[in-house]
Amino acid sequence: MKNIALLGSTGSIGTQTLAVVARFPERFNVVALVAHRNIELLQRQIERFRPELVVVSDEARARELAGRVGVEVLGGEENIVQAAVHPEADFVVNALVGKAGLVPTIEAIRLGRDIGLANKETLVLAGAMVMELAAAHGAAVIPIDSEHCALFQSLKSGSPGEIRRLILTMGKGPIAAMDRDRLERVTMQDVLDRPSWDMGMKINVDSATCVNKAFEVIEAHWLFGVPAKRISIVVHPQYICHSLVEFRDGSIITELGTADMRRYTQYALFYPERGISPPEAFIDLLAQPLVFEAPPFEKFPCLSMGHQVIEKGGTLPAVFHGADTAAVRAFMEGKITFTQIPAVIQAAMDAHEIETSPDLANILAAERWAEGFARQWIEEHAK
Ligand code: NDP
Repeated sequence: MKNIALLGSTGSIGTQTLAVVARFPERFNVVALVAHRNIELLQRQIERFRPELVVVSDEARARELAGRVGVEVLGGEENIVQAAVHPEADFVVNALVGKAGLVPTIEAIRLGRDIGLANKETLVLAGAMVMELAAAHGAAVIPIDSEHCALFQSLKSGSPGEIRRLILTMGKGPIAAMDRDRLERVTMQDVLDRPSWDMGMKINVDSATCVNKAFEVIEAHWLFGVPAKRISIVVHPQYICHSLVEFRDGSIITELGTADMRRYTQYALFYPERGISPPEAFIDLLAQPLVFEAPPFEKFPCLSMGHQVIEKGGTLPAVFHGADTAAVRAFMEGKITFTQIPAVIQAAMDAHEIETSPDLANILAAERWAEGFARQWIEEHAK
């Protein structure tokens, strides 16, 4: 029986993690749940999974929930870490969105706890520090992001010195087919109408701008220690192949499967074993051909930003993330156009003086600076 602390239980990855836990009650037990504002769903999860500790980062919602359930409820973002370091937890699943995921990951790793990591912001902001700590404390970081989990599995075919290239796959929706004029007029509805995985709002916009793919390049760099110039991107419209590893002998190893995050949450929960999936998890190899195309670097300037920030390093990834957070919020509020998102991010990155060996405080300060800079830039340049 593995005891699980689940951070971000009410989100897309969080609910899909609980769907897996529910299928294997003899293998997994939930000891802690964390959410932000959705206390209605959280209450149902508490009744179903009976955790010992619940943390709600919104303090008012925490007080509201505490009166309704018979378990300990802590309020405030600073208390998320209590769930990550819960003494009974064997495995922490970090499915929070945003920088709130960073410190809980670090503190769980300091205790040598294994982590299932969906929260990509952890690695985008502080990948060097997190992976160094994980190595020092003997904590395994199991990626839940589909591409990285696919790479993690494929990498078992060879040693690090034998890797020639990591190849990240990306999908292709209607936004990718739009011409430049139409891209100017992309709305939130266009973003949500894209065929995609079941994702939260922020990652939906990040996927449409290709910022998400740039974040994934940074994640892959830190998770697997591969330099940016040996991380490629290919378009794969079928969402069947979920990234590939090319080894020095010319062999390419990949993971194929349905576009269903439950396979990855299940992989992380069961690691190092494999759980048994239900019949609908299996693909029909004869149903459609696999196609690979060149990535649209020219049309989507954000797509190359991951490589750019890895090369320059230091606090620049944090600035990339902070500026993107502000830009996505402004786009969702209708203050800037879709095509202004890369301009906001590039302006912040150009204006930033990089701290080359940052500590956690420098990283968080750079992230805050970038959000502030981007908000100001948006005020001055809004549509
Ligand atoms: P969602 O927006 O669906 O869920 C986010 C979760 O985090 C919710 O439980 C939410 O709580 C909580 N949360 C939001 N803001 C805060 C905050 N300020 N403090 C604490 N908790 C907060 O996101 P996803 O599940 O889609 O994504 C989670 C992470 O996984 C992201 O880093 C994303 O990039 C990554 N990821 C997601 C994939 C997907 O297919 N969805 C694929 C690969 C990676 P509440 O609902 O109560 O407000």
